[in-house]
Amino acid sequence: MPSRREQLKAKLMAEVEALVEEALAKGEDTLTMEAIEDIALFARDQVGQALTRSLVAQQAKAGDAELPSCPECGQPMRAKGKKGRYLCTRSGETRIERAYFYCVACRRGHFPPG
Ligand SMILES: [Zn+2]
Repeated sequence: MPSRREQLKAKLMAEVEALVEEALAKGEDTLTMEAIEDIALFARDQVGQALTRSLVAQQAKAGDAELPSCPECGQPMRAKGKKGRYLCTRSGETRIERAYFYCVACRRGHFPPG
């Protein structure tokens, strides 16, 4: 069973490999300098976003280990699955999955801090 880090790396490398493959396939045609720049800048954006997603996913593991307590009343909350949202980062817009929790006592949902 590969570790979580190995799984993240394999997924990231597959995404990067597909981008490199696509760029090299385009390079078999005659390209203007502008077209080469467009290909390189597109790949830079995509790699940045893929790396951002992988690092966000890596950080999320800490919150999965134990149920956080409610920030209002301190009771342990129930896991309510994950919610996706778009995050604007300096490395581009990235969709991330965040764990979501519910406090039965307060009848309120919370995202864990951080
Ligand atoms: Zn509560």
